[in-house]
Amino acid sequence: MTRLLITIISLLISQSAYSQWHRLPFETMGTSAYVEFYSQDSDTAAQLIQQVQAEFERINQLMSPYIATSELSRLNTLAATENITVSTELFQLLSRATDISNQTAGAFDITFASIGFYYDYRQHKKPDPKVLQQAKQLINYKSVLLLADNKVRYAKPGVKVDLGGIAKGYAVEQASLLLAKAGIQHALITAGGDTRLLGDKRGLPWQVAIKHPRQDDRFAAQLPLMDTAISTSGDYERFFIEDGIRYHHIIDPSTGKSSTGLLSVSVIGADTTYTDALSTSLFVLGLEQGMQLIERLPEYEAIFIDAAKKMHFSSGLAQQ
Ligand code: AMP
Ligand code: MG
Repeated sequence: MTRLLITIISLLISQSAYSQWHRLPFETMGTSAYVEFYSQDSDTAAQLIQQVQAEFERINQLMSPYIATSELSRLNTLAATENITVSTELFQLLSRATDISNQTAGAFDITFASIGFYYDYRQHKKPDPKVLQQAKQLINYKSVLLLADNKVRYAKPGVKVDLGGIAKGYAVEQASLLLAKAGIQHALITAGGDTRLLGDKRGLPWQVAIKHPRQDDRFAAQLPLMDTAISTSGDYERFFIEDGIRYHHIIDPSTGKSSTGLLSVSVIGADTTYTDALSTSLFVLGLEQGMQLIERLPEYEAIFIDAAKKMHFSSGLAQQ
């Protein structure tokens, strides 16, 4: 009896010390997400976890092209024929995407979807060459006209937008702001390949791993990080292989085909919306042009893994 009591008491003690870290894996935006943070108040923590999940779901309902009632679906259905008024939030993210397209010479292009919708990686489906040639002409971010008063118009019929290269990062950033506003100082939020860290892990840096691009059970690198964001884009996330060709989810807007040359790119910097879009962009730009771009952004660093699985670091990381 005494031994049982001691066991129970020691369990309770370790539980209460342990329970100041709150953790929850969940599914959202078609991917796995995870939140972990430090709080001494477990009631508040439970509420915050719910708010984080709700925030992801809110953004998903707004921006998913697969949800018929989303604002983005409405645009994709109607914006070629009439001006559509959207929420300030969606308008601002579309503006952000356009800025990044300009900055990356069109490597980042949310109208990749004009062709992207012909791919289904799970079903091993891809557009046939004729469809590809035609749909390729519709990829041009300049066809998304951002007008006054949050109105949006697509310049041509057939233009489609997908925010898959930026919306997850945006949602991670919004969720981290929510935690920060609630006074949380130590947190990790991740969804798909996009991760935001608030502070450190109470005295230690967070350890964020970059997946090995060809071996599921291995890491290519592990980085001690704090108070920053990191996003990884890889050709191993959603893909199928046919006749030796890897068809994957990052589309080079200039060809309409999956981008070749790199296996993965990770970008580290303050803002998850930007690291998300940049990692996709650098993947398309390739090592040489991608490195040139990241070197022009002093607050952002990148790790490239090339086709020979060799890692390349931008100068801010190479120095460390
Ligand atoms: P990520 O995993 O962040 O690299 O994002 C990949 C996702 O971005 C894809 O699943 C598409 O939804 C979207 N995407 C693919 N190619 C592009 C591109 N060239 N520009 C913008 N978004 C893209
Ligand atoms: Mg990305």
